[in-house]
Amino acid sequence: MQTIIARSLLNLKKNLKNLKKNQKVGLVPTMGCIHDGHLELIKKSKKLKYFTVVTIFVNPAQFNNQNDLKKYPSQEKKDLEILKKYDVDLVFFPKAKQMYPLGYSTYIKEINFSDILCGKYRKNHFSGVLTIVLKLFLIVKPYAAFFGEKDFQQLFLIKKMVKDLNLGVKIIGIPTVRDSNGLALSSRNKLLNAKGLDIAKQIYLNIKKIQYLDYKYAKDLELYLKKKLKKSGLNDIEYLEIRNSNNLLHPKKVVKGKTLRVFIAVYVDGVRLIDNYKLN
Ligand code: AMP
Repeated sequence: MQTIIARSLLNLKKNLKNLKKNQKVGLVPTMGCIHDGHLELIKKSKKLKYFTVVTIFVNPAQFNNQNDLKKYPSQEKKDLEILKKYDVDLVFFPKAKQMYPLGYSTYIKEINFSDILCGKYRKNHFSGVLTIVLKLFLIVKPYAAFFGEKDFQQLFLIKKMVKDLNLGVKIIGIPTVRDSNGLALSSRNKLLNAKGLDIAKQIYLNIKKIQYLDYKYAKDLELYLKKKLKKSGLNDIEYLEIRNSNNLLHPKKVVKGKTLRVFIAVYVDGVRLIDNYKLN
């Protein structure tokens, strides 16, 4: 099958209308610069035989920092080549003007989990994320949508929105894909030079050791890990916190096998990287 490319809402809707009645749609929202992490989501959707729609949209509503938005990498031509190679059924490139026309003023706000972790440092970030994801759900009407565990808080909030708003979309979470050094794949890695990449790999090398550390209190474990990370060259840690995967609450004590997870955001050469790792 040829990959359909839609650049307008009208064109997208026309193409989706032509689908057979029982054809399930799998949606993979991305901001482009396609890498193996994105491809894992796509492969899963294809494996499940869904008509796979990939969207590429650097969503301005989720950027609190205009410089960060400007710097965000893009490689449209290469992305299309990759997506065609992986037999993606349809690629949708929404335009900011169509998603947020002049006078646009409706945003989703989740009130319990959006101001912690990344949300604490990126004001309105998750409101922007949930708004665009809801808009894409309403436009594409997918049976299922795929999101990476790399952005764990985002995945958590999307699941919550689907439940709270009875959206009836199946949300499928995909484990984080890493490079040979363990660094979580991210489009932002492209902004790092060799030295930056070398420092960035220390994130995973340190957080994965959490399994073997014997600390009674979460606060102490966090302090120890921060110290270790700083020693390995990661001086600009935005946050490092242990939270429960099921409710994002901060535990007082470290109890192994209790779905605890370490969450981190760190700047390397001015590039913001995030990761998380489950404590088994
Ligand atoms: P992004 O283009 O960074 O917005 O990511 C689009 C989707 O791909 C999101 O659901 C991300 O969580 C997911 N994703 C990004 N990087 C990875 C990765 N290394 N492993 C798994 N999923 C990822």
